[in-house]
Amino acid sequence: MKIAVISDIHSNLEALEAVLAAIDEAGVEVIFCLGDVVGYGPDPAACLELVRTRCAGVLLGNHDEAVAHPGSMDALPKDGRAAARHNRAHLSEEQVEYLAFLPLRLEAHGCTFVHATPDAPDAWRRLDSFRIAQAQFEHFETDVCFVGHTHIPAVMADRLGVLNVRPGHRYLINAGSVGQPRDHNPRASFALFDPETLTYEPVRVPYNVERTAKKIRAAGLPNSLAGRLKEGQ
Ligand code: ZN
Repeated sequence: MKIAVISDIHSNLEALEAVLAAIDEAGVEVIFCLGDVVGYGPDPAACLELVRTRCAGVLLGNHDEAVAHPGSMDALPKDGRAAARHNRAHLSEEQVEYLAFLPLRLEAHGCTFVHATPDAPDAWRRLDSFRIAQAQFEHFETDVCFVGHTHIPAVMADRLGVLNVRPGHRYLINAGSVGQPRDHNPRASFALFDPETLTYEPVRVPYNVERTAKKIRAAGLPNSLAGRLKEGQ
């Protein structure tokens, strides 16, 4: 049975809809979301409703936390803070409450799921080097731990030189970002995974970037947030 892992949607409805369509086309019914459903983009309410209807599990990301608890907004970059304030104003009280109680960690289908790192999921550390990744393997029990947060899809094995996900090793897999990819590829990113065979497939989906960028500008959000979507950074 295959599962889909999505992360860092960031209120980008066009990207989320394109990814969900690709997931449906792949015949996959179980979806996990690693968090940052909101922040940065113009459509927090629609994204939140889609994610909570479609996903078997949803985690808390740092932008979800900032929207739910404005006291924690200071850790975000300036444009992120502006977007968090905008997003909070466009969510109902009930939706904000939903974000506030999202879990930091889930285990299902033989996988661990966190937004940032398994050692301290609420410290919002960046898992962006082999050395940092190595220290994380003792903090989860399953063979595979899915992470998001950096917006850069990656596979980090428990040993250098293991380049493909296959049985016999353990892996941290970054699913990349649906709504704000940062690997210079503007297409929405997500992961398909078969927990029985350890078959991992990174997927990229084109979506109407121009439409999202227009909505960002129309919402009065910082212009930089529209520009970076086209560059994928
Ligand atoms: Zn994010």
